[in-house]
Amino acid sequence: MQHFGSFDYVIAGAGSAGCLLANRLSRDPDSRVLLLEAGGSDDWFWIDVPVGYLYTIANPRTDWCYRTEPDPYLAGRSIHYARGRVLGGSSSINAMIYMRGQREDWDHWAALGNRGWSWDDVLPIFRSLEDYRAAPRRATARAARCASRTRACAGISSMPGARRPPSAASRR
Ligand SMILES: Cc1cc2nc3c(=O)[nH]c(=O)nc-3n(C[C@H](O)[C@H](O)[C@H](O)COP(=O)(O)OP(=O)(O)OC[C@H]3O[C@@H](n4cnc5c(N)ncnc54)[C@H](O)[C@@H]3O)c2cc1C
Repeated sequence: MQHFGSFDYVIAGAGSAGCLLANRLSRDPDSRVLLLEAGGSDDWFWIDVPVGYLYTIANPRTDWCYRTEPDPYLAGRSIHYARGRVLGGSSSINAMIYMRGQREDWDHWAALGNRGWSWDDVLPIFRSLEDYRAAPRRATARAARCASRTRACAGISSMPGARRPPSAASRR
C-alpha cells in the first residue's frame, strides 16, 4: 500500500464541490489537504469546448456511464445518466452554462431563516465565479434576434408567459 503521509483534510471527489473545497482549505498554509479523484486527468481537448460534451458524455474516459432504472413513464426504458468521472467531475463534461437559479427561490430560502441565501447575497458570489464580458450593443441585439428565432423554431414563443430574453445589462 502506498503511503502519502498524514493530512488535516481528505476530500473524496475532485468535482465542482471537491475542487472548490480543496482550494479554500488549502489557502491556510498550515493545513494539509488531500484531494482524491477516481477518474483521470482533465487534460483533453473536448473538456475545454462547450459542445465537447458530445464526446465526453457516455464515454468511460470521462463519464461513470450510469443508467437509470427502467421507468414506466418512459415506456419502461432505461436512459443514460451522465456523471463526470474525471478531474473536475461533472463540471468537466457539462454544457458550461452559468445557471444562477431563480431570484424568487433564493429569497424564499432566505425568508425561511437561511441567512446569506437571499438573491442579493448570492448574486455577487455568482458574478465572482462567472467569466462574463459585456457584449457590444450591436452584438447583444443580434444575439437576442438569434435567441428569439431559436425559440420560434422550438415553438416556445407560442407558450403562455414566454418572454424576450433579458438584456445583458438587466442580467447583471
Ligand atoms: C451532462 C451534464 C451537463 C451539465 N450542464 C450544466 C451546465 O451547463 N451548467 C451548470 O451549471 N451545471 C451543469 N451541470 C450540473 C453540474 O455540472 C453539476 O451539478 C456539478 O458539477 C456537480 O458537482 P459535484 O461536486 O456535486 O459533483 P461532481 O462534479 O460530479 O464531482 C464528483 C466527483 O467525485 C468523483 N468520485 C465519485 N466517487 C468517488 C470515489 N469513491 N473516490 C474518488 N472520487 C470519486 C467523481 O469521479 C467526480 O469527479 C451538468 C451536469 C451534467 C452531468
